[in-house]
Amino acid sequence: MKFGIHSMVWVGDWSPEHARHAIASTAEAGYDLIELAAIDPADFDVDLTAKLLAEHGIAATASLGLDAATDVSSEDPEVVAAGRARLRDALALVRDTGGTHLCGVIYSALRKYDRPVTERGLANSHETIAALADEAAASDITIALEFCNRYETNVLNTTAQTLEFIEAVGRPNVMAHLDTYHMNIEEVSMSEPVLAAAAAGRLGYVHIGESHRGAPGTGSILWDDFFGALASSGYDGVVTFESFSSAVVHPSFSNTLAIWRNLWTDNRKLATGALTFMRSHLRG
Ligand code: MN
Repeated sequence: MKFGIHSMVWVGDWSPEHARHAIASTAEAGYDLIELAAIDPADFDVDLTAKLLAEHGIAATASLGLDAATDVSSEDPEVVAAGRARLRDALALVRDTGGTHLCGVIYSALRKYDRPVTERGLANSHETIAALADEAAASDITIALEFCNRYETNVLNTTAQTLEFIEAVGRPNVMAHLDTYHMNIEEVSMSEPVLAAAAAGRLGYVHIGESHRGAPGTGSILWDDFFGALASSGYDGVVTFESFSSAVVHPSFSNTLAIWRNLWTDNRKLATGALTFMRSHLRG
């Protein structure tokens, strides 16, 4: 198992100074991996990032949520094309930093929708992920689809929907990305979805997030249920700690995720505490 941390625990943007700080802090806190926030992948200094990762012995993945102008579940061919271009940029970022996974809300926009997804929109999303997966396979990269709560997407809100979507796409390197924060809102259990995804051979990425997105163990998530299932599933992949506070702000992403409150200020303490929390739950 590889323990990762989301870059926004450390920094809100990816300036050279912030990239250096985030990757060094990840290593200092004892993590194996950093999840890069590839919200604007074309604007990323890939060479510097790859160099810093090598220097600190840290692995990488990347995640993003698409926006309204790049929504691949849209019926508008131009919007879908813009989304596909952004996903190709994000995939190149993963490849060129030696990363292993591209994950997040890459099958729709990350936003509150005011209507259900249409049949044509869903087909556009399926076709996009199939093509992305084929391109990713050439570089041995896994595509992981992160279902989110109903206020952040109208396409995938549960593990069952995600497995159905993956079945429709029919590619071996498309996996389900389970996030405890979203599971806690939409699932009936914190264990059954983990076991279902693992039984389908599609448990491919995990986000550890508390019910209020703050420090793990200080909210209402049933952690013993979740980690018990994760341990018994035999999952051996990436487990990334994800937490957001108004102490670290990204110009657009923080607003999209409704990060209005200051849930922590000391991110070093948060990061080391979260790693201890994840390790001790998986041992127990
Ligand atoms: Mn997440």
